[in-house]
Amino acid sequence: MHERTILISGASIAGPTLAYWLNKYGFRTTIVERASELRSGGQNVDVRGAGRAVARKMGIEEAIKSASTGELGVRFVDRGGRKIAQFAAGTSESGGLTAELEILRGELARILYEQTRDDTEYVFGDSITELQNDHDAVTVRFKSGTQRTFDFVVAADGIRSRTRDLVFGSEIQIRELGLYMAYLTIPRLESDSNWAHWYNASGGRAMLLRPDNVGTMRASLSFLSDPCGYEALPLSEQKEVIRKKFHDAGWMAPRILATIDQSFDVYFDSIGQVKATTFSRGRVALLGDAAYCPSPISGMGTSLAFVGAYILAGELARCSDYREAFLNYEKLMRPYVDKAQQLPPGSPRLAHPKTKTGIRLFHTMLRVASSPAASAISRRLSTPKAEQIVLPEYAGN
Ligand SMILES: Cc1cc2nc3c(=O)[nH]c(=O)nc-3n(C[C@H](O)[C@H](O)[C@H](O)COP(=O)(O)OP(=O)(O)OC[C@H]3O[C@@H](n4cnc5c(N)ncnc54)[C@H](O)[C@@H]3O)c2cc1C
Repeated sequence: MHERTILISGASIAGPTLAYWLNKYGFRTTIVERASELRSGGQNVDVRGAGRAVARKMGIEEAIKSASTGELGVRFVDRGGRKIAQFAAGTSESGGLTAELEILRGELARILYEQTRDDTEYVFGDSITELQNDHDAVTVRFKSGTQRTFDFVVAADGIRSRTRDLVFGSEIQIRELGLYMAYLTIPRLESDSNWAHWYNASGGRAMLLRPDNVGTMRASLSFLSDPCGYEALPLSEQKEVIRKKFHDAGWMAPRILATIDQSFDVYFDSIGQVKATTFSRGRVALLGDAAYCPSPISGMGTSLAFVGAYILAGELARCSDYREAFLNYEKLMRPYVDKAQQLPPGSPRLAHPKTKTGIRLFHTMLRVASSPAASAISRRLSTPKAEQIVLPEYAGN
């Protein structure tokens, strides 16, 4: 049998993890990434449960642990910075806010790139513009003008996957959650600690400031709003929207907004979930956020990407017919995905109260939930535990 070739679009988490496993099974892998180099941006991502088991199988669990952000947990504070409630990392009362294993997305992408760069062909600064999904191969035209043929193509290019759109058109939609979120890195001050701090301001606004392991702090600013086109604005106009929304929010707003022009990685988008009716069509499969983005609220995006990549590669290696492999991948992943996409009840509104009274009520809930005796309420506030998937064993791993 000839060496089977796979083109993967996207060099973040799902793409390189898939390449790692396919390389092990003797496939020839190419990854095309739109950015001109490996993207270093992004905040803490969680590696949980079965995702962590895949990382262990890949021999990178220790590398992830050593690059952990070391976040101690989350403290909810009022306008004056006074503590309302706190949840330690990795405890059952933590509400799933700080996972046991947290790492900056860019650090994880770097670890995965280093694991695959010798065996995978990486093409940076290019992307797929046309795709012909035939019964015996996929012919791809790139933005650079080149044309190549592969046995399979996998779209691992994130929630707004262009490759998915080329194959499925508008058939697969993003379910918007009515929340905008801005992420940025800001300088660390002497007074900052290794606790994350969450603050609510009226008008459905929230701010989160988290430590990292590289000497800076990661801020996120979120607010309730139906999608209204902010995500498509040029960055300078997005910064203006963020300034207007948060100038009177209090707490750390002046500090964060003062650095917004110097920050190298301001990222602003509306938050949503991908609900795909199917994970493949012909010789093209969807993976990671492109297939089943659960949203950052779930804390499950990275674990889904790890597990999905492991299963997709394993099934392609195990089945002589790729159609059977794609069907098995979907059958095994679907219950895990469905569970991971279930958000805490009332999310994201519960954690973004609109009025001062709503904030006071939220604080009361947090105080109760943070007491060890109140695990029932604590569970209500937390991310539902994704049903543990039993990872299949594949020959050769
Ligand atoms: C820069 C960045 C920052 C992030 N920050 C956070 C965060 O702070 N918190 C959080 O929970 N999640 C964050 N995420 C999302 C998180 O990485 C995913 O939810 C999860 O890890 C699954 O990853 P993925 O590989 O499926 O998708 P993503 O991590 O979204 O990766 C998609 C990759 O595809 C590339 N790409 C996009 N379009 C194309 C195209 N047309 N052609 C080729 N390549 C393309 C992107 O540049 C990116 O490298 C971030 C993602 C990115 C890319």
